[in-house]
Amino acid sequence: MTSSPGRPPHGQGGKAHIRLQPSAYFETPDGVRVSYENSAGLYEVICADCGDNADIPYEQAPDELRKVRGPYQNENLAMRALEQHMGARFR
Ligand SMILES: [Zn+2]
Repeated sequence: MTSSPGRPPHGQGGKAHIRLQPSAYFETPDGVRVSYENSAGLYEVICADCGDNADIPYEQAPDELRKVRGPYQNENLAMRALEQHMGARFR
């Protein structure tokens, strides 16, 4: 079961967190998988309440989850996005 950003059960289990975006695999339109090292220091928001799973590469995540993930240029931006995502309707 999944829920939408800013809606229950957000903020009740602390399931969302930010992390440095790991090295990832990207798939070209030809179906070729290309691995790349993330040296940009991008952060992303992982929200289990939205059905996200840290094991899913960004490229394989549904559009909804990509919007949640970002990625964000630095930790502060990611934290702000996380707060908005979690608390928009609870404050
Ligand atoms: Zn969420």
